[in-house]
Amino acid sequence: MRLLVVEDERRLAEALKWGLEAHGFEVDVRHDGLEAVQAAETNVYAAILLDLQLPGLSGYRVCAEIRRTGNDVPILMLTAKSGEYDEVEGLDTGADDYLTKPFSYVVLVARLRALLRRTGQAPTQVVVGDLVVDGAARRCSRAGQRIVLTDREFAVLEFLGEHRETVVTRREILEQVWGWDFVGQENTVEVHISALRRKIDQPFGRHSLQTVRGVGYRLSGQDE
Ligand code: CA
Repeated sequence: MRLLVVEDERRLAEALKWGLEAHGFEVDVRHDGLEAVQAAETNVYAAILLDLQLPGLSGYRVCAEIRRTGNDVPILMLTAKSGEYDEVEGLDTGADDYLTKPFSYVVLVARLRALLRRTGQAPTQVVVGDLVVDGAARRCSRAGQRIVLTDREFAVLEFLGEHRETVVTRREILEQVWGWDFVGQENTVEVHISALRRKIDQPFGRHSLQTVRGVGYRLSGQDE
């Protein structure tokens, strides 16, 4: 899947390209609003990551220009600080979602995948061994057996599933599932992980939801 990253801070643009390529995307980079409009006209992208403050044309203007040509490519706006992005203006100009810097790759990729799913461009199911997490139907099953999860448990599992076989940190889970403004108990994530293990692993004699000590958690199709 090919993405367009529009970001004038070159180091950040390079880092985004590198990080997204590591997640299996092909990435084109533009550093200027006018170049971005041109690139969107001449190429087909699965999604566009668009910085708000750009030379040439602002992110809002780029978005409006792209929509004006009838192009409905999903657009994820990147904003430098919270409060900078005007949601109403963003929606008016046709942006689909936005993300405030700094963000982790895990969060970025999860938001991007959610956006691609909403627009029918990414598979809605995550399969990890015999565990199936169906984000569209909100259903989970192991070896064909239905597992009932709460909304939060489902969100945590879906997030881990999207990053299967890689370690995600507690902070990343908190940011993704509970949001940036999370206030609450430090052990919230552990509580949900424990609950998930009681549902997706223990009844099946499995250890797919693994703790990586001092780092975070990993959902694996190869149970240790
Ligand atoms: Ca910028």
